Amino acid sequence: MGAITLNAVEKWYGDVQVIKGVDLEINDGEFVIFVGPSGCGKSTLLRMIAGLEETSRGQVMIDGRDATAEPPSKRGLAMVFQSYALYPHMSVAENMGFSLKTAGAPKAEIEEKVAEAARALRLEEYLERRPKDLSGGQRQRVAIGRSIVRDPTAFLFDEPLSNLDAALRVEMRYEIAKLHEQLDSTMIYVTHDQVEAMTLADRIVVLSAGKIEQVGSPRELYERPGNLFVAQFIGSPKMNILPCTVSGGAFHIQDGRSGPAQGADGAVNLGIRPEAIELGEPGTGHLDGVVDLVEYLGADNYLVIDCGTSGKLTVRADGEEVIRVGDQVGLCFSEGRTHFFDTAGLALQM
Ligand code: ADP
Ligand code: MG
Repeated sequence: MGAITLNAVEKWYGDVQVIKGVDLEINDGEFVIFVGPSGCGKSTLLRMIAGLEETSRGQVMIDGRDATAEPPSKRGLAMVFQSYALYPHMSVAENMGFSLKTAGAPKAEIEEKVAEAARALRLEEYLERRPKDLSGGQRQRVAIGRSIVRDPTAFLFDEPLSNLDAALRVEMRYEIAKLHEQLDSTMIYVTHDQVEAMTLADRIVVLSAGKIEQVGSPRELYERPGNLFVAQFIGSPKMNILPCTVSGGAFHIQDGRSGPAQGADGAVNLGIRPEAIELGEPGTGHLDGVVDLVEYLGADNYLVIDCGTSGKLTVRADGEEVIRVGDQVGLCFSEGRTHFFDTAGLALQM
């Protein structure tokens, strides 16, 4: 079991409101990621679920019971932090079994649970080592192992990979995905990294300034962002946004050419992802521009195209195409891949 429900939860520090009424249902076994810019309240919300932070208003429900007033030890949740704070004088096995030992579990049970966790985390060869003789990724795995042995109702992770270098982050991301598959437990994972969110989550919760912007699967958020914030937060490089007007079933860009659009007439924001723009000859497509920057990444070229009054647009082109700064190009927006947002930033249904 590991179903967690938040009912209108709020967090106030004095008269400053940090969490502004969050409703969320997390299903047993689900991998849910809280993502958002630094300071938006991700850690606070996670700590309220863990019981490490008092909930000012609303309810935290765990498996159908009201846990709002329960201390962390009663909630049966395990928290894994960015800094893993292992005991330096203890071996890996002792570190992992420590909480069971202090709880008075029998030796045979501790050994069995530690062995099981070591298998899941591929730490079997390292059980006798001290933390100082492990790599950063191995230490983080020990920290996770420490929580696995307690058989928690759910795992709560707060930016567990932020201290690791880029290559190790990718490796640990894979480990955590495999672990979730294997344990089948509820995981709530906080990160500011939208790539981590996209690759790991069953569902992503996008937060900004203490409020939920949107909840959905990675694909839903990418393909149907509900507002400009989500549209620009999910996806890298970012979705391009340019002002246009809609009339008579078409969008019209200043100094550009029209294309199909539905919905009411008026001023809107057009969104188009970098990979949904085709390069062509100047005078073709929807907009003309001049190549301002070429970022060659091997498989891809990321181009910044200066489109004058429409601003600078990022285009993802094939890495094999040779493109130079100063080239004149035409940009064609792929049909059906344009997004429209009203002037308040809400997605318009197409
Ligand atoms: P995140 O994890 O998304 O970066 P946090 O949850 O740590 O954000 O913080 C959310 C907001 O709450 C921030 O604006 C932060 O300054 C504020 N905050 C956190 N702890 C306290 C505190 N003890 N007193 C006052 N404000 C706090
Ligand atoms: Mg945080």
